[in-house]
Amino acid sequence: TLPDLAADAQVRADDRAHVFHSWSAQALIDPLPVASGEGSTFRDYAGNAYLDFSSQLVNLNLGHQHPDLVAAIQRQAGRLATIQPSMASDVRGELARRIAEVAPGDLDKVFFTNGGADANEYAVRMARAVTGRRKVLSMYRSYHGGTATAISLTGDPRRWPNEPSDGSVAHFFGPYPYRSSFHADSPEQETERSLAHLEQVIVLEGASTIAAIIIETIVGTNGVLVPPPGYLAGVRTLADKYGIVYIADEVMVGFGRVGEWFAVNHFDVVPDLITFAKGVNSGYVPLGGVVISQRIAEYFDTVAFAGGLTYSGHPLACAAGVATFEVFERDGILERVRDLGARVVEPRLREIAAVHPSVGEVRGLGLFWAIELVKDPATREPLVPFNASGADATPVAEVAAACKRAGVWPFTHFNRLHVAPPLIISEDELRRGLDVIDEALSLADARVG
Ligand code: PLP
Repeated sequence: TLPDLAADAQVRADDRAHVFHSWSAQALIDPLPVASGEGSTFRDYAGNAYLDFSSQLVNLNLGHQHPDLVAAIQRQAGRLATIQPSMASDVRGELARRIAEVAPGDLDKVFFTNGGADANEYAVRMARAVTGRRKVLSMYRSYHGGTATAISLTGDPRRWPNEPSDGSVAHFFGPYPYRSSFHADSPEQETERSLAHLEQVIVLEGASTIAAIIIETIVGTNGVLVPPPGYLAGVRTLADKYGIVYIADEVMVGFGRVGEWFAVNHFDVVPDLITFAKGVNSGYVPLGGVVISQRIAEYFDTVAFAGGLTYSGHPLACAAGVATFEVFERDGILERVRDLGARVVEPRLREIAAVHPSVGEVRGLGLFWAIELVKDPATREPLVPFNASGADATPVAEVAAACKRAGVWPFTHFNRLHVAPPLIISEDELRRGLDVIDEALSLADARVG
C-alpha cells in the first residue's frame, strides 16, 4: 500500500482533537494512525508494516481481518443484527454450547458480557450471592479490568488512583519464582510457601467473610507468571476447605493463547467460575462472559440473578465466536500454538537469554512469553522500576522503539517485553520477530552494570 499522508494527517488531527484515550495523560501520547491489517500484520498510512507481536491487547488471537470471522459477522448482520438478551438466539445458544463443551468439569452455562471487566464484576456478584459473603481475595501483580470491582481486584498501579471503589477486596502474594516473596529456592518450595501464605490470609481475613478468590490462571499483563506445579490445585483445595468460590480469570489466556481452550485445562484444575473475553472472537465485536459450574448455576434456578446488560450475548459477537470455534477446529489452532511455543519460541528465547546480560529470565507457555529485563543479572534489579513512566521507562521504551523501527510491534509492561503474537502467525514471521527482538535487546545490554 502506498503512503497516504493526507489521510494520516486527517486521522491524527481528529484523534488528537476529539478522542479521549485510556490510561493516558492526553497531551503526552501520540497514537499511531492505523490504515489496515491482515493476518499478523498491520500498516500505518505512512506505508510502514508492523508484525503485531502483541495481538493488539492480546486479544487478536486469529489475527487481523480473518476471512471466516468477517464473513460470519457479515452473514449475521444481514440476517439479524441484534436481539435483546431475554430472547433466545441461535448463535448465542450455539456459542454457549460450544464453550460448555470445552470448559472443564461441570462448568456448563454461560453468562455473556461485553468484555473482561464486566465478566469479572458479574462473577464476583454471583459468588457473593451464592455464599452470602462479601470479601474477595486477589493477587498483587494482577489485572482484572477497569470497572469498579474489577479495578479494586487489580493488583497493579492502575488501581491506585481509583481507590477506594470496592472496599471488600484484600490482596495476597502469588507465586513468582524469579522474585519469590517467600525466599523460596525451588518451584516446589514456591508452591508450598505461597499456598501457606494464602491460607494465612484466608484465616486472618476471616474465611466466613470471603466470597471468592480470583486468580489469572497465568498472570498476563503483570508478567506472564506461569504458576509452579501444584499451585492452582492447592488453591482449589483451599477454596473447598473454606467454602470459597474459585474464579479463574482467563480473559487473556483463554481461547488458545497457551494451547488450550482454557488455561486451567493445562493445570488439570476445575474452578467454580471462569471469566473470558478477548480471544473468544478475537475482539472483532466486544464480547466476554462467565462460565458457570452446575452448583452455582443451580442456585439461580430459583433465585433471580440480579444482573444484566442490553448487549449480553450480542448476535454479531456470538457469530464471530462460533466462527472462532470452527477455525480453531479446522485449522488445528491449539496444536499449532503448542508446537510453535515449544519448538520455536521457547528455544529461541532461551538462546536470547543466554547471550543478553539484560535478560534476567524468559518464561511462558504456548504463544505467551515474557522477557524480564534487569540492570544487573546478579541482583536481579529491574531494568526499570515497578510503575515506571516517563524518563524512568526510557530503557525499555528504547528497546520497543527499536523493534518498531524494524517493523515489529511489541507488548511492553514496566521491565518486560511480552511475546504474544496472533495464533495464526507463520513460523517465518515468528522467527523474524524474535530476531528483531534479539537485536533490539543490545540497547538494554548497554545499560547493564
Ligand atoms: N482480566 C484480564 C486478565 C485482562 O488481561 C483484562 C484486559 O486486559 C481484563 C480482565 C479486562 O478486560 P476488558 O478490557 O475487556 O474489560
